[in-house]
Amino acid sequence: MNLAARDHAVIWHPFTQQKNRPHPIPIVKARGSLLYGENGQTYIDAISSWWVTLHGHAHPYIAEKIYQQALELEQVIFAGFTHEPAVALAERILPKLPGNFSRVFYSDNGSTSTEVALKMAIQFWWNQKQPQRNKILAFRNAYHGDTFGAMSVSDRSVFTLAFHDLLFEVLFIDTPTTDNIQSLQNLIAEQGDTIAAFIYEPLVQGAGGMKMYDAKPMDMLMSNIRDAGIICIADEVMTGFGRTGKLFASSYLAQSPDIICLSKGLTGGTMALGITACNDSIYQAYVTDDKYQTFFHGHSFTANPIACTAALASLDLLENTDCALSIDRISESNQVFATELKSYPQLKQLRQLGTILAFEIAQGKDEYLNNLSPMITDLALAEGVYLRPLGNTVYLMPPYCITEEELQRIYEVIRLLLAKITSRNG
Ligand SMILES: *Cc1c(COP(=O)(O)O)cnc(C)c1O
Repeated sequence: MNLAARDHAVIWHPFTQQKNRPHPIPIVKARGSLLYGENGQTYIDAISSWWVTLHGHAHPYIAEKIYQQALELEQVIFAGFTHEPAVALAERILPKLPGNFSRVFYSDNGSTSTEVALKMAIQFWWNQKQPQRNKILAFRNAYHGDTFGAMSVSDRSVFTLAFHDLLFEVLFIDTPTTDNIQSLQNLIAEQGDTIAAFIYEPLVQGAGGMKMYDAKPMDMLMSNIRDAGIICIADEVMTGFGRTGKLFASSYLAQSPDIICLSKGLTGGTMALGITACNDSIYQAYVTDDKYQTFFHGHSFTANPIACTAALASLDLLENTDCALSIDRISESNQVFATELKSYPQLKQLRQLGTILAFEIAQGKDEYLNNLSPMITDLALAEGVYLRPLGNTVYLMPPYCITEEELQRIYEVIRLLLAKITSRNG
């Protein structure tokens, strides 16, 4: 039996209706921006395998570091024990974070990093003897992960529908614009002192469709939120590590967060690891004589040494000037391509920030277009490019190692797709 058939018999895939599901595509190896299929086909990974791959697949530098660490210390319980990779990573990452951060709390992925942030913020007020201050403020259309707390602060959508009765209540607001900023500020003035924390994806709402919003009204809003004493939690799980053209999207803002969540690109996309970092005022609320004021949270693989080593190796590569130059080159090429795309009447809301380029394809009346996303994925795969639109939002988020030739090939395939879709949309 081939791999796809064996998979079909035993695997349950994420975000995939299991009835009549198409066979998944076996990938046998990957190098740089390329995924290799069973029969030697190659696909340019235009979305960095769900936004995690920074320096390319199977990077030999990271692979070697992982191998060496695995021979030395592969795992140790992190309550009561410590190790060099965890400490070195915390020492190295804290000064780079956008704000005054003093502590790193490790977990396993993006969802756990936001769960930890929410619990840390809520218990902060509980420890301060203000347990009634427990509301969470979040943006509509947000995505913070798939576990229960993370789902609660995410957009109520088809993805969360079965659980709505069980999700905790959240105060949802629109992302700020010059038009709505006044009403948002009024809301903070009225309800601010009941709100424990505000969680947000800075400037780009990823899974919500790569929606972008401006730094200026966000700074105005955050200034009010901070004045009201609300803890600001920046979810940079997707935007971190250069994606938006700066090391963190929060660096575009004058207001900094109190807590930051990192995962996805943290290890260059090689190992599962999450970081929730906080400033000293949050941390000090847990440094007390009261045992009940302990942060009772942890995971089996908290601060896994191999994952921390992968993150250190990824930082080595990220700090190389070649990497910064690549990010700039991708950003510039994306900008030029975005300008070209403006002339396509069937495209809406063209937007770009750093290495992320996104646009909506206007839905036609044609029945065929109801399944736009899988159709685009299939058309692009046939041309050797991997895209996975979010509904009718097509976006690019390539690994930084992508060559200019590969990038131009992606643009070429998008032109081709648009031509095909337009001819069907007549
Ligand atoms: C992907 C993502 C998460 C969840 O991360 P997982 O590792 O998939 O659990 C949380 N927040 C944002 C902004 C994300 O993009």
